[in-house]
Amino acid sequence: MTAGIHHVSAIAGPAARNVAFYTTVLGLRLVKKTVNFDDSGAYHLYYGDETGTPGSLITFFPWENVAPGRLGIGETQETAYRVPQGAIGYWTHRFIDKGVDHQPLERRFGETVLPFRDPDGTRLALVAVPGIEAEPAYADGGVPAEHALRGLHSVSLLLEEVGPTGAILTDVLGFAQTASEGFLTRYQSGATVGGIVDIRAVGDFLKPRQGGGSVHHVAFRAADDAAQAAMVRRLVDNHGIDTTEQQDRNYFRSVYFREPGHVLFEIATDIPGFTIDETPAELGGSLKLPARFEPFRQRIEAALPPLHPGRTGGGVRSAFEDVADADYGGSD
Ligand code: ZN
Repeated sequence: MTAGIHHVSAIAGPAARNVAFYTTVLGLRLVKKTVNFDDSGAYHLYYGDETGTPGSLITFFPWENVAPGRLGIGETQETAYRVPQGAIGYWTHRFIDKGVDHQPLERRFGETVLPFRDPDGTRLALVAVPGIEAEPAYADGGVPAEHALRGLHSVSLLLEEVGPTGAILTDVLGFAQTASEGFLTRYQSGATVGGIVDIRAVGDFLKPRQGGGSVHHVAFRAADDAAQAAMVRRLVDNHGIDTTEQQDRNYFRSVYFREPGHVLFEIATDIPGFTIDETPAELGGSLKLPARFEPFRQRIEAALPPLHPGRTGGGVRSAFEDVADADYGGSD
């Protein structure tokens, strides 16, 4: 069975700053540039590996003047990426060099973890995973292949209690509880990328305020429509939870539901994937719109902010430097 995280979707501030950070600093590929299907005035940007494999994807809804979010109970606390064990030193230096807000190395479940934040304060981490050096990596983003990110490692959810959400992960989404340490309970799906969900159960805590730096939802994988329908049936029959109707997101088909710990979950199909409207070489190259928005393309494009302000032929790197000078840092 296909299981694991499909993508994580978060809320960001200025789109150009978001692009610069995820492509130039983290070395991910912008695999799809489209609009928020529920708000065509805003981008929806997808970053992943070379072809946007499920489990490699983080996506953003950037709004230029978004108010910062505040983490609270019932939210995704952190999104972590896998890197080769030998790459942690490289990344620590890179974060210092680029002025990226990061914390000292931590140990979790025997793994070395480097927590950091993007310019919006989104909580991220790199986790050193032994033995993955030979896995394919996207290296055209300026980070050498030996150090490049190898897809999502995990998300951690900040919840009041473990049990009810754990039941959804194990009974519906294909995970099994495998370990616990301190406040953390670990669930694993067996998938190489995006295979881990950690629940951090802290009892009563602040309510969240969604905004810049907040994760909007976590999407889990279903191989196809039939697998998704089976998961929806289990949600209804075993847990009394209804989902939305299936929604066509062009690159996958989705249902959404609020899990018992209040985090918004999505179940997204692996099919058809990102090469449905661009070739692998073209991915992320032009603004793609769902068919119903095509008649309004001119108006939509005119209303969207530029993704590379200050770009004067120096490429994405100089765009990042410009943006960095203007408003990067002090994100806490
Ligand atoms: Zn989604």
